[in-house]
Amino acid sequence: MKILVLNSGSSSLKYQLIDAETEEVVAKGLAECVGVAQRQGRIIQETKRDGKVVFDAEMDCHDEAMTRVFALLTDPSKGVVQRVEEIVAIGHRVVHGGEKFVQPTLITDEVLAGVEKMSQLAPLHNPPNLDGIRACLRLMPGIPQVAVFDTAFHATIPDYAYMYALPYDYYTAFGVRRYGFHGTSHQYVTGIALEMLAKDGIEREASRIVTTHLGNGCSMAAVKGGRVVDTSMGLTPVEGLVMGTRSGDLDPAILVYLARRLEASVSDIDRIINKESGLQGLSGLSSDMRDVEEAAAKGHARSELALAVFCYRIRKYVGAYAAAMGGLDAIVFTAGIGENSPVVRERVCRGLGFLGVELDAKKNETERGHAVNLATPASRVRVLLIPTNEERMIARETMRVIAGLSAPAPRVTEP
Ligand code: ADP
Repeated sequence: MKILVLNSGSSSLKYQLIDAETEEVVAKGLAECVGVAQRQGRIIQETKRDGKVVFDAEMDCHDEAMTRVFALLTDPSKGVVQRVEEIVAIGHRVVHGGEKFVQPTLITDEVLAGVEKMSQLAPLHNPPNLDGIRACLRLMPGIPQVAVFDTAFHATIPDYAYMYALPYDYYTAFGVRRYGFHGTSHQYVTGIALEMLAKDGIEREASRIVTTHLGNGCSMAAVKGGRVVDTSMGLTPVEGLVMGTRSGDLDPAILVYLARRLEASVSDIDRIINKESGLQGLSGLSSDMRDVEEAAAKGHARSELALAVFCYRIRKYVGAYAAAMGGLDAIVFTAGIGENSPVVRERVCRGLGFLGVELDAKKNETERGHAVNLATPASRVRVLLIPTNEERMIARETMRVIAGLSAPAPRVTEP
């Protein structure tokens, strides 16, 4: 029994085939340059038997990319699956579920229409997600498909944390509120953090965890009693932390000011805050934290500034979320930067001694690749490095929906 997990982005399609029982990754791959006329498209697939293999492939659209991927996965000579029936379900990452989809959901025509409607809130993300779903429906019509929403884990945030102080009608008419993203990642690391806390006698209901997902996109969540009570991304993934190329928090009137000064259009402003800001904009050098750290260490002043702003913003949110939850038991670091940058973790934790955070300098430098507490034994707050695994979480959520389908229907008792 295998689950196919798909993440279709604007010009790429990432996939993993996961064994439903052992959670072993049977095959994983990336179709890149989908619909990009100027660049040669290719599929990079990795399996245990063949290692990494690159296939050149022209792919005009997601349907074509999925057709190629499907052929690779089901070609008996490639040794991935012998029969299509081994794939029992497909789990799709869908970025925006709005207020409607707060659980992983079996895909039907009605759900597709609902996700399509949500494209207004995520015009860059939901349409390629939908393309991936439609391609799979065409190629594998008999296999149940599940949408797992990036916003869903944040659905428990209370209204006073998700409302913006704009005219109320914009919420009711246009859905303007905080939704939050990276939910699948925050959910996965929260599950592991809760297990680690339970070993120390802190039960789920009493737990107060701050999760920080620091990749190209960065976000944080305050998780109290296992439920999200606040998160840093908002209506869109631009709000909150400093990211690779996104600005994070701004005085909103800056956009008005810049529009006037630059005589900029809406799409110019959109490009500035999404593609030209963050580490890239501050350092003037790179959106990649490895480059920024390296340059900062060599004395490049703007890279040092970028690093300082990046870490300060996270520290500020840790304080805010400790206040929101009435205390703190653990800070979780995950994703590319969170899992691999001792420098960032050290700078974030520096000065948080008053909250009971005491990082073990040696562990912070040496530990990598597995879930571990980086705090000293005396530290009141755990500092947890937990590698994220969004695909595994999507596979689990997909299985949960499928299991519900095969469960016997509840007995209806006559009144
Ligand atoms: P994505 O959001 O695209 O999934 P990742 O989670 O892979 O991104 O994170 C990418 C980020 O992680 C980049 O900024 C990269 O520089 C950073 N990163 C990866 N390894 C290291 C490292 N050893 N030290 C510092 N940053 C790192």
